[in-house]
Amino acid sequence: MATLFQRVFSGNDAVYGLTEGIIDKAIEQYGEEKAVSFPGTAYSLPCYYAVTGTKVTNLKELKEALGVVKTLMTRENELNDVFMSGVATALCAEFIEVIKYIDGATPYEEPCYGHLGDPVIRELGVPLVTGDIPGVAVILGSAPTAEQGVALVKSYQAQGILVTLVGGIIDQCQEMGYKTGANVRVIPLGKDVTSVIHVVSVAIRAALIFGNVTPGDAGALMTYTKDRVPAFVNAFEPLDDVIVACGAGAIALGFPVITNDDKDVPPIPKSLIIQKDVDKWNATSLEARDIKIKITNIDIPVAFASAFEGEIIRKGDMQVEFDGSRVDCVELVSMKELSEVEDHKIELIGPDIDEFEVGSKHSIAYVVEVAGKSMQADFEPVFERKFHSYLNCIEGVMHTGQRDMIRIRISKEAFNAGFRAKHLGEVLYAQVKNEFEAVVDKCQVKIYTNPEDCTKMRHEVAIPIFDKRDERLASMTDEAVPVYYSCIMCQAFSPSHVCVVTPERLGLCGAVSWFDAKATHELQPNGPCQVVTKERCIDERIGEYEDVNEIVKKLSQGALEDVSLYSIMEKPMTSCGCFECICGIEPFSNGVCIANREYAGATPLGMTFSELASMTGGGVQTPGFMGHGKHFIASKKFMKAEGGVARIVWMPKELKEQVRENLDKTAKELYGIDNFSDMIGDETIATDPEELVAFLTEKGHPALGMDPMM
Ligand code: SF4
Ligand code: ZN
Repeated sequence: MATLFQRVFSGNDAVYGLTEGIIDKAIEQYGEEKAVSFPGTAYSLPCYYAVTGTKVTNLKELKEALGVVKTLMTRENELNDVFMSGVATALCAEFIEVIKYIDGATPYEEPCYGHLGDPVIRELGVPLVTGDIPGVAVILGSAPTAEQGVALVKSYQAQGILVTLVGGIIDQCQEMGYKTGANVRVIPLGKDVTSVIHVVSVAIRAALIFGNVTPGDAGALMTYTKDRVPAFVNAFEPLDDVIVACGAGAIALGFPVITNDDKDVPPIPKSLIIQKDVDKWNATSLEARDIKIKITNIDIPVAFASAFEGEIIRKGDMQVEFDGSRVDCVELVSMKELSEVEDHKIELIGPDIDEFEVGSKHSIAYVVEVAGKSMQADFEPVFERKFHSYLNCIEGVMHTGQRDMIRIRISKEAFNAGFRAKHLGEVLYAQVKNEFEAVVDKCQVKIYTNPEDCTKMRHEVAIPIFDKRDERLASMTDEAVPVYYSCIMCQAFSPSHVCVVTPERLGLCGAVSWFDAKATHELQPNGPCQVVTKERCIDERIGEYEDVNEIVKKLSQGALEDVSLYSIMEKPMTSCGCFECICGIEPFSNGVCIANREYAGATPLGMTFSELASMTGGGVQTPGFMGHGKHFIASKKFMKAEGGVARIVWMPKELKEQVRENLDKTAKELYGIDNFSDMIGDETIATDPEELVAFLTEKGHPALGMDPMM
């Protein structure tokens, strides 16, 4: 029997030989100068770049890189040689995969994804730090039976774990008609074993994006993935040498491997675990990676897990729909006196779902009434904003929008499983009590389904409340509040990053407003959001305060000395990596371009969102670049030190439409300009700086006349 070492070496050698052949063939076919890189990433070949610090751009360099990989393949029979051979195997897999993408090819077909772009990783940032995604499973090979394979996938999915699939398990899911896709957190990567590199690449880019790990510092890279990326591997028998070598690579990154192959691999405590019983893999894996699952027991007939949040229910699959764009619908949280609320009372006023015709549209209004000694009216919208996520986590329920612009679809499958209107109430009750137990002592839910009741609830009750809240929010300025809040939620990934959240500057992830941060602080006084006083002003222009600096220094463990709230050039706030948008200076026009995560095209800065985004992150200050939330774009504090929103010269069209109304209002108030958004370029106007300047000149854009930023 070959030893484990020998198997890793032989697997590594086999993959190396294969890679060499493929590269040589590609050179023969395309020539040495042919460009190679993965799409949608600023890191070209992310794994090779992270390990060596070198960015490969063409086939010639790829061939040279293979020479570097060879140097990792030492054969002294020490543990380190085994790990490095595992890493070398992974790098070879990356080389093989990148060649598939030559000439902008799309080598993967549905349901497989292949390479995942940088924006996907940035999007994963918040759910990973909040524990919404408690882990990442990599399932490789074919399960003993398709039923067992699907059961394993489902078990992780129900825990919110992000599941990636490689090889036969993909066919097994298809065979069983199991729904896969990034929206339900089950991502088939590819059927070749080399496609496993696409999840490794995600873990490694997390280190570059969030962790500020220096490319080439392989030691820091492996420490980061081991400590901060909660991934693990489930590999079905039989394991060939190549899989064993890949497994060594996984273990080198700190990801334990669980297998049912007990023939010729010896177990390694905590790293290579043999468990014959596949039904036990879930528990074994979580224990090996030390992943704790928050259990929410809700009395409903279908599953409830964050993995279902992105689930889409098509028209043909829906039992009923509540559609706020057509009829009166509304959702509301309302604070009451303790005596007015009976805890856990769920009341349905009107007909239930089974009285509706299949596929029909209806009104719905639900009011969650809460009471508690420490409850405040300011928390109402904070809870309410969570409803979207709560209801979406129900398997077979899709919720979009908020307030009186909601739409809810309930699938036939959920209906057939017994799901009824009161279960919406059960979920809202359980989640509000669960998440806000510090302030909610009692909670009851009223659900109205009669059209007249819904109309009344919407127009007479809810809309006046929404209007009042909006007025209050609009009048909230940084000057009007006594304190700001810090947020360090993202330190799990970005250890020195601190957001300072103010009424006019929300967290860069877009998910934490000043009210949210305030609520978080009051609910969890020792939690991620702390009070930041702002009594000792140093420089009003850039928004710098002695007390803000002190807390930022403390919370960043000394990594950050000083930070401004309103400048992109002087001591700008840091970014973790999960920002919704990034803006960067555009020297020809004296302005800034903004790109949002959803935008994949070019910008006049000659960079895509991913490339721009790679300029900042990891909790370091990068003057000239700033990550921020979408809502910040229309803020009067947006780059206030540099002249405010008048500096915005370009953003993607879709984003422009999203912010138009508020941005125009701000520009009108600050500069007296009407329809400011029309002066801003977008991809349909120009993606080249010269054309952009010509457009701005024609429109008389104010940035052209402002002081140079640099
Ligand atoms: Fe992360 Fe900042 Fe958002 Fe908090 S506010 S979750 S630290 S990006
Ligand atoms: Zn973040």
